[in-house]
Amino acid sequence: MKILVLNSGSSSVKFQVIETDLEKLNTHQDKTLAVGQIEKIGLSDSRLVLKVPGRDTYQDYHEILEHRAAIGWAIRILCDASVGILDQVTEIGAVGHRVVHGGEEFASSVLMTPEVLNKIEQCSVLAPLHNPANLRGYHAAHAALPDVPHIAVFDTAYHQTMPAHAFLYGIPFQFYTKHHLRRYGFHGTSHRYVTFRACQIMECEREDKKLISIHLGNGCSLAAVDRAKSIDTSMGFTPLEGLVMGTRSGDLDPAIIPWLMAMEEMTLHQMNTMLNKHSGLYAISGVSSDMREIIDARARGRRRADVAFRMFCYRVKKYIGSYAAAMGGVDAILFTGGIGENSPEVRESALTGLEYMGVHLDSSKNAEVVGGEAVISTQDSPVTVMVVPTNEEKTIARDVIRVLNNVMPTFDPPEVIS
Ligand code: ADP
Repeated sequence: MKILVLNSGSSSVKFQVIETDLEKLNTHQDKTLAVGQIEKIGLSDSRLVLKVPGRDTYQDYHEILEHRAAIGWAIRILCDASVGILDQVTEIGAVGHRVVHGGEEFASSVLMTPEVLNKIEQCSVLAPLHNPANLRGYHAAHAALPDVPHIAVFDTAYHQTMPAHAFLYGIPFQFYTKHHLRRYGFHGTSHRYVTFRACQIMECEREDKKLISIHLGNGCSLAAVDRAKSIDTSMGFTPLEGLVMGTRSGDLDPAIIPWLMAMEEMTLHQMNTMLNKHSGLYAISGVSSDMREIIDARARGRRRADVAFRMFCYRVKKYIGSYAAAMGGVDAILFTGGIGENSPEVRESALTGLEYMGVHLDSSKNAEVVGGEAVISTQDSPVTVMVVPTNEEKTIARDVIRVLNNVMPTFDPPEVIS
């Protein structure tokens, strides 16, 4: 089946067409037929880019004021006789939508019924920037493709298997019951793809393995995946918690926030912007939020770039240790995301000193791997270390197939306490 995968933001829509079915997804034979994006929705020079394997990239500009027009444009281009990949729109069998927040309502992907849409709307309070944009994308796509099933795949759903002792914060319990304030975790679709793919490559069952999945992109998170279930993850109530990221602070003493607000007379908005946009690698290095530029600056002797690099890797190492402790060991450590897939330096620095727990990196193999799937630990390393490029869109397309065939893995319902 050809599936349209949509990732709708407030001013952009990313789309892919992926061909998959039950057999293809189990044998990694599913194919990405086209990858596209419309950006600057709401402006007069909105841009559409379409990449089809083996062809030149196509781009065009139009005034696109809202999501219906954007998705209409994407579908027209996909069906265009000279640049598209479909003969007719009826070739699209279903649509998969990335939805950022499923709260405690969704522990797996679901068909988007009116009841599901209501619940996604209710979860908007937890993701006020993202869920409304995801819903706008749904309504636009449904208007264009009313006769095919639409399936929601949530960034948070995979982590709903976390136990209460991992997802609660040590603050008054009433904030959990009243506001659902707890750790949710994000990047779930990526961690799920990477752990699934790693076990395909290792030819083992996920149900037998303890895995640490490390997604290092602009946003960064780890997940402890114990026998196919996420039991802890480093992002929290929002994506701000955990690792040091491109522009996000990650973990910090919460008392810093009121102290700094008082000392600097900062508003809530300024504090939020500082923590999310002006912190992390960007703030410490004084160079950039981009790891490539930090690695270059470090090589040129910039001390702050070197500290930023070491801070980044040290935080990854601390989380690896804590997740190995949480699971009582680890069988494999998996790197993904732009940094995890492409930076041998980061992987080596994050794993150096973990030999005592059975992590033996093969330095020359590691140095060779920039993108692509590979095992980078020594042959006799008790813990396997792998690079597994993520593919969140493929996971969304696969979930469409799983939902339509009623084989979506079911988890125990989230532990809701009162
Ligand atoms: P996003 O989280 O926005 O999807 P990516 O997963 O593409 O981002 O990751 C972006 C990060 O990956 C940037 O910090 C970029 O510098 C880093 N990156 C990409 N290629 C390399 C490389 N060859 N070496 C080091 N870092 C890289």
